[in-house]
Formats: sequence, structure tokens, C-alpha cells
Amino acid sequence: MSDSRIRDVVVVGGGTAGWMAAAALSATMGDKLRIRLVESEQIGTVGVGEATIPAIRLFNGLCGIDENAFVRETQGTFKLGIDFVNWGRVGESYMHVFGQIGQSLDLIEFWQYWLRGREEGVAEDLGRYSFNEEAARLQRFGRVPRIPNTQLDGIAYAFHFDASLYAKFLRRAAEASGAKRIEGKIASVRRNGENGHVTAVVLENGEAIEGELFIDCSGFRGLLIEQELETGYEDWTHWLPCDRAVAVQTRNVAPPRPYTQSIAHPAGWQWRIPLQHRTGNGHVFSTAHMSEDEATQVLLDNLEGEPITDPRVIPFTTGMRKKAWNANVIALGLSSGFIEPLESTSIHLIQNGIARLISHFPDRNFAPANVETYNRRIAYDYERIRDFIILHYWANQRDEPFWTYLREMELPEVLRRKIDLFKDTGRIFREQEELFVEVGWFQVLIGQNILPDTYHPLADALTKDELAGFLRDIRTIVAANAQKLPSHEEFITRTCAAAPPQGTGVTA
Ligand code: FAD
Repeated sequence: MSDSRIRDVVVVGGGTAGWMAAAALSATMGDKLRIRLVESEQIGTVGVGEATIPAIRLFNGLCGIDENAFVRETQGTFKLGIDFVNWGRVGESYMHVFGQIGQSLDLIEFWQYWLRGREEGVAEDLGRYSFNEEAARLQRFGRVPRIPNTQLDGIAYAFHFDASLYAKFLRRAAEASGAKRIEGKIASVRRNGENGHVTAVVLENGEAIEGELFIDCSGFRGLLIEQELETGYEDWTHWLPCDRAVAVQTRNVAPPRPYTQSIAHPAGWQWRIPLQHRTGNGHVFSTAHMSEDEATQVLLDNLEGEPITDPRVIPFTTGMRKKAWNANVIALGLSSGFIEPLESTSIHLIQNGIARLISHFPDRNFAPANVETYNRRIAYDYERIRDFIILHYWANQRDEPFWTYLREMELPEVLRRKIDLFKDTGRIFREQEELFVEVGWFQVLIGQNILPDTYHPLADALTKDELAGFLRDIRTIVAANAQKLPSHEEFITRTCAAAPPQGTGVTA
């Protein structure tokens, strides 16, 4: 058997995507690969991307990262979910939290009983049956894998962190595992004349960095995947019309909340992401419906603390690269596509791309079936997340032109089917390996006033008194155990408090 193993990997770009790729590959395959990462301080990184979902804990575990050290060094806080304000109707709010809600019983999900309980007037708000939501509302947090002496899941959590500090943290992990960093701006790219594969990237100083596999983490510009290979981009602006964000950082005015806030505005929505030393804020909006000046003013009018940076505008086009893997180039991060940060999925998509890259890791023959399968799986991952984000926009009862357009637009087929099934039967089924599970869809649908015509017939197996007792027991256990948790602030102080950042005058 001839040896066609790949030994030389070049990562282009040192933002979150580049350093996540370098850290994961060096932790898992570092003894078999030479991994070099090229980045340019002059160009810098996008510098946003601060909220995550729980899967990031698996990624950090894979890289051997200690969680308390990671939170401390990235000025991180804990995230239990997202508080959606003004999304269904102005003045309303609901939470999409991580983890289970209630407890399934006799083959059907908890929420089928909740739907019946709601009809019979014996159910409280859905969030009252969620340990995560109770803890979030009380601003409490703890690492509790299961509620003791019950069948109920414990706290499911992710993090908020400073994205540039996370990249630095991962850099240390990657370099400790053998990855090498090269500083310099790439000025040109060399290709193989026969098969078109990239053979080297050439820096402004003339140094050529040769490789067999190139991972394009160069951000929105897509240096290799687009500028060089002209792969093409699928534009989803007609479903997700927001095309710009304006971001600003503020001083903290209170202890950091253990959840992200997402506040809908007339032509988009605003994020608030609390870190230990400051809060990240941004307004994602549609330039077809609001000017940049107006959007900036909406953001500035809705800050809680004093700004510590000038507003910064970031344009984007929602969509994905037609192929994430083209020839011997694999795009990760912003170079592979972008879906707005409403459910904090971009960093997850980087992690997902890395996991898929490891399982599809090629040799120098780059088997076309392997490349094609990788691309199909990545496209599926993107499309299902896209549909979940579209759901938030479609399920609105607001009356501004932006929201009316979204409520009346034609939906992607898979999403349309999912909504129809839910409205007619109360059922939700996860499609293959899609990221968001049934309970996540349920929270958004109910939270934005999309109610089904009926519930599962098995939920009728309990008498009305039994149903009321079942719901009451869960509610009581969840409330009592949430009260026992320390405050989020106290938990951080005790386990992972960060030092105030140098030279900014900012205190936590
Ligand atoms: P970048 O950070 O842009 O890095 C690109 C790298 O390539 C840099 O190191 C640059 O120096 C290098 N480079 C480029 N050209 C060259 C060259 N010619 N030579 C050498 N080096 C070069 N994600 C989340 O998960 N949660 C969030 O809350 C979230 N919020 C977001 C909000 C906004 C407004 C935006 C736009 C994105 C958000 N994201 C979020 C996405 C997240 O920011 C990105 O997924 C993440 O930062 C990865 O970026 P990147 O590494 O792909 O690109």
C-alpha cells in the first residue's frame, strides 16, 4: 500500500476558527501532523462572537482545557439560555433555555402533558417546569448534573466570553501541543497546474508556506475558498434580511446575568452579553428597513451601562459557501458561511466543522466521495440551523414592515412541514442530526404564540387530579432546588473570578 497520508496542514487565519482548528487538530492528531497557522496582526480578527451553546464544553474537553481556568482567562460568565423580549408581540417575553423541561412520562414528552394542563387550567408558564429557567430568573447558577433523588436533569450550561481572549487562550493550548504560529500577511497563493490544488501561501516578505491540506479560517473574505478557488456563495437574505450589525461594549451596571438577552426592535434585534468585566451589545438589522444611523441610535438608546467603545459596524451576507470543502481547502468559521448570532450558533458551526473534518480526515488522494459526503453533511447542518432562526422571525405578531414581510414570506419546505405538523398535531420530530432538539423548537413556538390544535392522546391517560399533581410536583422540585443554588456572581467569585483587564480602568 503506498503511503498517501497527509502530514502537513496549514491553517490560514488566527481568529476563533483558526485557533479552534489548530487546538483541536494538535490535541487529537498532533503526533501525526505538522500544523502551522498563519495570521496577520495587521488585518486582525472580527472581534465579536461571545455567546455559545453547551456543546462547547465537549470541544474544550477534547482540547484538555480546564473549565475554571478557561472562564477566568476569558472574563467568562455562565449561560443558561436566552431571554427573548418583544419577539412575539411587543411587551411579551419568553426564554429558550438549555436542557430538558419537566420529565417525559409513558413514552411522550413532558410538554404534551403541559399542553393538556394548559387547556384544563392546571398548568403554569412553561418555564416554571425548567430548572434552567428558574435558576436564570433567580440569577443563580451551579454545576448540578442531576436534581438529587429525582429523574430530573440538572443544569445545562454554556458560556459567554471575550472572543479575542478565547483565541489567545486556545493559541496557548495549540502551541503547547505542537502547533506553530507564523506572523505575516498572505500576498499570493500557489496552485498545482494540473489539479488546481493549493500548494502554498506566500507572505508579503516572500516566504512560501507549503502544505498538503489547507484550512481556510480567513474570515468573511474567504481568502482561499472564495478569492482563490471561486467556490460561490448561497445567499439566504430573502429569508433572513438582516445584513449588518452595530456593536458596542458597555460597563457593567449590575452583576452579570447568567443568560443572554435578545430584544427585538422594529427592523432587527439587540443582543446583551454579560461578561465579568463588561457587557457586549449589538444591534443586528436590515438595511432595507433601517438606516445605519438609525440602527446605531436604537442601540445607544437601549444600553444599560455607559459605552466604553465607539459603535462599530459589521456588514454580512447570510448564507453559506456552495462547498465548504473544495479541492484541498476546507473552510471553517466565517469563510464557510454566516448565520446571524440569534441562537449563538457560529462558534458551534466551527466546532461541528472540525469534528466532521476529523471524522472525514482525507489522504492526499482526496477521495471525491469523502469530500462530497462532508459537504452534504455540512450543508444539512447549516440549513437546519437556518430554519430554526427563520422560525423566530416568522412567528411574530408585530406590525412594522420588516416583521410583516417575515410573517408573510414563503418558508423553506422542511420548515413549513415542521410548523404544519406542530400546528395540526402538537408533534415535533428532530430531523436526522439537526442541532436543535424538540424541546428547543417547542419553547420558541409556544413563546411566540404558535399553539397546536391538539396534544398527544396518551396525555389523557392521567385523571385531571393526577395531571395537576404531576405538574405541581415537578414545579415544586424545580423551584426548591433552584433556590438552593448560589447566585451566579457568588459562584464566579468562588470558582473562576478573572482579574480586571489591564489598563482599561474597567472594574467588574
Ligand atoms: P476572523 O475572526 O475574521 O479571523 C480571520 C483571521 O484571518 C484573522 O486572524 C486574520 O488576521 C486572518 N487573515 C485574513 N486575511 C489574511 C491574510 N491575507 N494573511 C494572513 N492572515 C489573514 N458567534 C457565536 O458563536 N456567538 C456569538 O455570539 C456571535 N456573535 C457574532 C456577532 C456578529 C456581529 C458577527 C459578525 C459574528 C458573530 N459570531 C458569533 C461569529 C463569530 O464571531 C465567528 O464565528 C468567529 O469569531 C470566527 O471568526 P473567524 O475566525 O472565522 O474569522
